[in-house]
Amino acid sequence: MSEASETAPRRLSGACHCGAVQFEASLDLSKTIACNCSICSAKGLILAFTLETEFELRSGADQLREYLFNRHVIRHSFCTVCGAETFARATAPDGTPMVAVNVRSLKNVEVAGLSPAPFDGRSI
Ligand SMILES: [Zn+2]
Repeated sequence: MSEASETAPRRLSGACHCGAVQFEASLDLSKTIACNCSICSAKGLILAFTLETEFELRSGADQLREYLFNRHVIRHSFCTVCGAETFARATAPDGTPMVAVNVRSLKNVEVAGLSPAPFDGRSI
């Protein structure tokens, strides 16, 4: 595999378990993280970040509910029908709106083939 194809963002689609929430996002799956904070541990999240402008919620906006905790820096959202978290909204240190996609909710992505970097969110 060439270096370019390993790092180039790909347009991927994903959904919650019941399918009410559908989205597309451009993601670089060579840069995923596995965070050890309380919410990521509880949900088993593996996240890939992208610009909000590279994320498109295609359906399910009215099924989503946000879950805020700690300093409310990351707005976790989950489907109120099936409970699955597909993505969270966040803001980069420079103020850029970002989306953290749960790569486990992506279609046609083998999570076992990814190498998420450990992220020590518990200590922040
Ligand atoms: Zn759902």
